[in-house]
Amino acid sequence: MGFRDDFFVVGNIIGITGKVQELPSVYFRSAAGEYGHITQVHKSTYNWGRTRVTNDPGWVITNACPRQCGCGRVAAHEISGAGRVFHKSRSVFVKVETLSAGDLDVVSEAIHRCPYQKSDPHSRDARRAEEERYAQEWDQAHARLPGGRRGAVDFTASGLANKVFGIAYPDRV
Ligand SMILES: [Zn+2]
Repeated sequence: MGFRDDFFVVGNIIGITGKVQELPSVYFRSAAGEYGHITQVHKSTYNWGRTRVTNDPGWVITNACPRQCGCGRVAAHEISGAGRVFHKSRSVFVKVETLSAGDLDVVSEAIHRCPYQKSDPHSRDARRAEEERYAQEWDQAHARLPGGRRGAVDFTASGLANKVFGIAYPDRV
């Protein structure tokens, strides 16, 4: 069981940021007006996984930098129904309608690869502490057992998958 498995389903996928074959972020939207996304690889592990799910029928995502932002970059901007730009992506938003069926299959793997809600603490200190906790978990998971052998590690179950993906995609972290 993952976080909000009723919402993070293939039928709610509206698009991605990043390349299909390189663990893109996957965006979801329900008919009820909820939105959220899955970050599959990120430099900070606290930002890996499923976002909280928010209900806002006025929410939009657009590549054109809106006036109230002013950064001037062509990249995905999320705008709340109240008109606030609250999230900017590193790359452009690609609509699901432009993906092939095969691409959608690959993109959908994010649902199973990232079952957890990201912890995403709000303070800088809490974020630093969270990264230190993951680093300790990583070291423990890779510690040698008596006799010098290492145990198998289920990276997804232990929440350490982001560190593995960061090794596979060093330009993303
Ligand atoms: Zn902008």
